[in-house]
Amino acid sequence: MRDCDPDVLAKVAGAVLPDPDARLDEWAEDHVVIPKGAAFSGPYRLAHTPPARRLLQVLSPVDPTARVVAKVASQMLKTQVFICAALGWIDTAPANIIALEPTDGLAKRLSARFSKAAEVCEPVRAKLAAPRSRDKRNTIDAKEFDGGTLYITTAGSDANLAEIPARYLFCDEVSREGYKVKAGGEGDKIKLAEARLSTYEGISKAYFVSSPTDTDDCAIDALYKQGTQEHYHVPCPHCGHLHELVQANFRYTVADGGQRVLRAWFVCPDCGGEIEEHDKLTMLPDVGMGGQARWVATAEGDGMTVSVTLSAFYAPLGSISWKSLAKEHHQAKAAEALGNVQPMRVYTNTRLALTYERQGDSVAHAELVQRAGDWPMRTVLRQILVLVAAVDVQRGANARLEVSVWGFGRGEESQLVDRRVIYGDPEIEDGQPGSPWTELDAYLAQPVRHASGAMLPIRATAIDSSDGQVTNTVYRFCRTRAHRHVLAIKGRRELDRVLGRPTWQDVDFRGTQVKRGVRLWKVGTDIAKGTIYARLRLVRHGAGYVHLSRHMPVEAFEQLTAERLVVTTNGGQSRKRWVKRAGAANEELDKAVYALAMAHYIGIPSWGPADWARIERRLLGQADGETPDLFMATPEQGATVKEDGTDADDADEDDQGDQDPPEAAEEPSATAAPPAITVISSTRPIVPTVAKTGAEMLAAIHRFRAQRR
Ligand SMILES: [Zn+2]
Repeated sequence: MRDCDPDVLAKVAGAVLPDPDARLDEWAEDHVVIPKGAAFSGPYRLAHTPPARRLLQVLSPVDPTARVVAKVASQMLKTQVFICAALGWIDTAPANIIALEPTDGLAKRLSARFSKAAEVCEPVRAKLAAPRSRDKRNTIDAKEFDGGTLYITTAGSDANLAEIPARYLFCDEVSREGYKVKAGGEGDKIKLAEARLSTYEGISKAYFVSSPTDTDDCAIDALYKQGTQEHYHVPCPHCGHLHELVQANFRYTVADGGQRVLRAWFVCPDCGGEIEEHDKLTMLPDVGMGGQARWVATAEGDGMTVSVTLSAFYAPLGSISWKSLAKEHHQAKAAEALGNVQPMRVYTNTRLALTYERQGDSVAHAELVQRAGDWPMRTVLRQILVLVAAVDVQRGANARLEVSVWGFGRGEESQLVDRRVIYGDPEIEDGQPGSPWTELDAYLAQPVRHASGAMLPIRATAIDSSDGQVTNTVYRFCRTRAHRHVLAIKGRRELDRVLGRPTWQDVDFRGTQVKRGVRLWKVGTDIAKGTIYARLRLVRHGAGYVHLSRHMPVEAFEQLTAERLVVTTNGGQSRKRWVKRAGAANEELDKAVYALAMAHYIGIPSWGPADWARIERRLLGQADGETPDLFMATPEQGATVKEDGTDADDADEDDQGDQDPPEAAEEPSATAAPPAITVISSTRPIVPTVAKTGAEMLAAIHRFRAQRR
């Protein structure tokens, strides 16, 4: 090489020799380019997301922070910050990097995003080895570079990484199910992942990010609480008051019944001035770029963890807007008022970056009896337009199938239409003498009369297959009735949807194995119970309301209300879960859960006014005005219906004998309780009654009150 200009030489040296003291916020602005096609493509600029600066600073190899925790809204400070940090680590202080995602899909997406970003990052591109095809033996995606390898895999398959030491760790969406410890599985996934860093103690970095989940059961929240718990404060454009943007100060106006948001703004908690979304331009810039905004720590933490939280209110202009957040919030409030808490839970977790406090500890069965309608079983109310069924399978001394038929209408107003107990050993195959399945089949095929006179078929049926002794029998029954939408289901507490995706199961079909013979559907029992209890508490007829008949046996009301939400502690981790009162039966609640899952299966939550109108037209067209409203019905029509409503017979035979008085429920009951039922409600007098049905119980309450007067 010929003599060179010393300035040029210095420039070249600067370009090729990494600076181990580099701070990654500055490094990222110098070297990271957002690839074309992504939002905000072009050179990476912290001006778009000023809150990211602090994260990149503490993720810098020179910074002593060992752990960085971000409890944040969806699409905030997650992948892009990791990609900037990883590229910076590779350039300035290379060593192994492990990146974990909760699902394989997310792992693939991260891998693709990283590769694209690395291709357009000058100092890193030259250091990357040619990409190899995915390792066939396991699910690890490995990207080699000078001085180390980036491993991207799922949290569930992290055992594959057990032997690999790393200096850097990224755990994405740590509150999601992929990180949950499975029963019988190895310990805490997060602890195991952090153990990989032990070789580099003192200089390692771990970056944990996630939207939170439920209060008391949230991994990112637990990590967040170990750190400095920093909030991003911005100055009021009117008075300069530094404050956090929180829901309490958020205002909006809506039109068209909430379909359109006219305006969304904040009020300053100090001067009351109104803050518009475009004020973000002056509010969000931090001290580092001449602004006033800054992270404010609210805790000392453990001395090694910096933790931050950030809501979607801070999203850069051009991504999710305050107006769209207002619309989501408005719709979530409306759904909540109808007993559907899921949208508010999602909004709280993924937009506000807050844990969600699950409501609804219990419902008193006496309250339900008081509100129950005076219609006979097996009569479908006018506003109920579709039917589904749910089957609970019981083995043992009192072997039986318990079936409930539920109806749904607009706004998911629902009705427990019929209950049937079919005695017989569920291990006896359909078609064999004494099998309860044959009778079940006939029962499910029978349509039920609607108030209009039309006949309503059962559109879908869920059968619980979780009892291992009968799983195959249930599979066989469902396999040959798939066309009638008779589904094998299995409840799972932790599933965060009412109905999960199905998985194919092999069926042992009388000696021959049928590969992928039947689909098994997972049902999110905890989330469904939350919805059902919120709805049972509604007192106004209309959307969300649950119609129950006072002609049901009292035990049906008791079973529906047999559970409550409690906080349990397990190995230092507390979590909320639904538990049965000691000794109480809960089949009716289980069936309500399965029926709700079937409502989701046939798509009811997504049906709009036009869908309902079409179903109603078809139904009324079928009825063709031939029969008047059953509930204005003449006595003989009422009698016809009652003839079908054989439920009272079931009640007589249904000798479960374990009806606990609700208040005694805390005590595990060893022996069967006496038939007397003590009704206790917080607001009403204690009424000792001997009642078989809700109607008898109501009558007893009235007698009792009359005596007291
Ligand atoms: Zn102000």
